[in-house]
Amino acid sequence: MKRLCHQCRDEMIEDCKVTVEGGFYGIKVSETGNGIFKNASSRLQAAVCPSCGYVALYVEDVREFRK
Ligand SMILES: [Zn+2]
Repeated sequence: MKRLCHQCRDEMIEDCKVTVEGGFYGIKVSETGNGIFKNASSRLQAAVCPSCGYVALYVEDVREFRK
């Protein structure tokens, strides 16, 4: 599945690492809840459009969020 830019429809460069500048920390996205099955988390990744610079964020392992 190719990721297309929302602005100009060009094909985006995926699997870009998202880090906090000045550190080696990544950013994680988590879904928290009360039940055992309501805990999902995954590392955040980015796709960058080589034409206009638009950045799209997505989680590394989306299966974590599928119930
Ligand atoms: Zn673009």
